[in-house]
Amino acid sequence: MDIKTYVLKRKQYLKDKITRDGGTPSLAIIQVNDDFASNKYIAGKINDAKEVGINATLIKLPETTAMEVVLRKIKKLNKDPHINGIIVQLPLPKHIDENIIKEAISPAKDVDGFHPLSRFKACTPLGIVNYLKDEGIKISGKNVVIIGRSNIVGKPAALLFLAEDGNVTVLHSRTKAEDLKRYVANADIIVVAVGRKHFINDEHTLKKSAVLVDVGINRNDDGSLTGDIKPGRGVFLQTPVPGGVGLLTRLTLLENVMEAYLHGI
Ligand code: NAD
Repeated sequence: MDIKTYVLKRKQYLKDKITRDGGTPSLAIIQVNDDFASNKYIAGKINDAKEVGINATLIKLPETTAMEVVLRKIKKLNKDPHINGIIVQLPLPKHIDENIIKEAISPAKDVDGFHPLSRFKACTPLGIVNYLKDEGIKISGKNVVIIGRSNIVGKPAALLFLAEDGNVTVLHSRTKAEDLKRYVANADIIVVAVGRKHFINDEHTLKKSAVLVDVGINRNDDGSLTGDIKPGRGVFLQTPVPGGVGLLTRLTLLENVMEAYLHGI
């Protein structure tokens, strides 16, 4: 099933579940800027939430807000029994320590899965693994190559694929180009999260049976988006950009909020 149809189906399922339950799961979004991209992402998240019956509240603070003020807001939301999930939109202004903020969010409400003790998995890798499993793609015993080692994608993806018994290899900025070619040629599943247009291209030999997951979002001069993998590689499955992993990430945030609502403390 293509990702758009899959996401629509899962959102409908979520909406029905919320309607049957009769309550309203709620998400608080903290934004500390008035950045164009952040505004756009947040509008998307609020819209997604509304579609399924989740109440999303935006707490928008000016870029000059002191870190203590942001921490106080988070503490208040941590204690608020009407709030199930809390996310802080990144990037944060330079004077605010991202790690301190991430760790201030209660692990029971950290629906982005950024807190080290969060009860939630990071949305992008979880969305990918759920989709592949639902598509009947076998992970156990398969050679899974993850390119990129960020805390929000590469590293948590490695742990999730390992939990599914994949043979996981993580490649990164210090991996030699010739080694990368060797690893991808032997891979059954490749997740690319580098942030470079067509990082995987015709120079790379791939298995015909390979599954390619393109996490990259690269903005072109005309505003259009391009992934990290050159399209049309003729493999078993290749996720598109746009309309691919981004949709899975957005879906998973909603599913994490629902989980927090049902099982949070
Ligand atoms: P990042 O930008 O923090 O880091 C990039 C990673 O690429 C690093 O871990 C680095 O080691 C690796 N890298 C750089 N050069 C390399 C090379 N030559 N060979 C191998 N690895 C190399 O990573 P991020 O935050 O995970 O973002 C990666 C991309 O994914 C960006 O385009 C971002 O916009 C996108 N992204 C998309 C979603 C989504 O929902 N679709 C979510 C998160 C990030």
